[in-house]
Amino acid sequence: MTRIPLIAGNWKMYKTGTQAVAAAKQLADLSKGAQGVDIMIAPTALSLPLVAAALGKNSQVRLGAQNIYPGKEGAFTGEVSGEMIRDAGADYVIIGHSERRQYFGETDESVGLKIRAALDAELTPVMCIGETESQREADKTFFVLDKQISDGLKGFDLEELDSLILAYEPVWAIGTGKTAGPEQVKEVHGFLRHLLKEKYADELAAKIRILYGGSVKPGNIKDLMQLEDVDGALVGGASLNPEDFNKIIRF
Ligand code: PEP
Repeated sequence: MTRIPLIAGNWKMYKTGTQAVAAAKQLADLSKGAQGVDIMIAPTALSLPLVAAALGKNSQVRLGAQNIYPGKEGAFTGEVSGEMIRDAGADYVIIGHSERRQYFGETDESVGLKIRAALDAELTPVMCIGETESQREADKTFFVLDKQISDGLKGFDLEELDSLILAYEPVWAIGTGKTAGPEQVKEVHGFLRHLLKEKYADELAAKIRILYGGSVKPGNIKDLMQLEDVDGALVGGASLNPEDFNKIIRF
């Protein structure tokens, strides 16, 4: 089974609409013709329609949202639904990023509800999982990841998870400049692939793309992408600069 790598950029709460349009256009120019790779950027929800209009429907640079509300519509001040995200021009949505778990109280249960909302809106969910530094030091990495997957994906059928993308992001490596070493990444991605096989089926496990995230830069992407079971990257800081992100796309 060949899995096309996905290089995804999480722009977090950076860039105004004007800045996002300029950066997206520059990225689209730089990355034109990149082969064998899917590309996604996730600007703020506010910038999605502007960037979608600037890139056009057929751009190789696809769009994602950084969050989704698990409900169709209603009196939920400040929230954005899957249908709204899709209508704004996005195909993907990042769910359960560690910053959302840490600062906005997201739990494995809410992650599951958001994955459901994404699938209902025909958005591809990018489910983030990862251990904190103290969990790793306490030798709980595999336990934590198993729980995040088991609880986050509770109640989903095999067929429903067909489009799911996992992003392994060790919390201690996000925005810190510390990247997990090749041995650590290889070990965890191998564990995740095995876990998916055990919980679901060989075919689904072979299909699901597992991205690595945590201080990915132009200088370390090549080594990461050479590892078995690494099917792309979720990039924060380095995705803000179109030139750096393009270098990552062209690993
Ligand atoms: C992220 O925010 O998902 C991330 C991986 O950030 P950074 O690349 O800056 O570590």
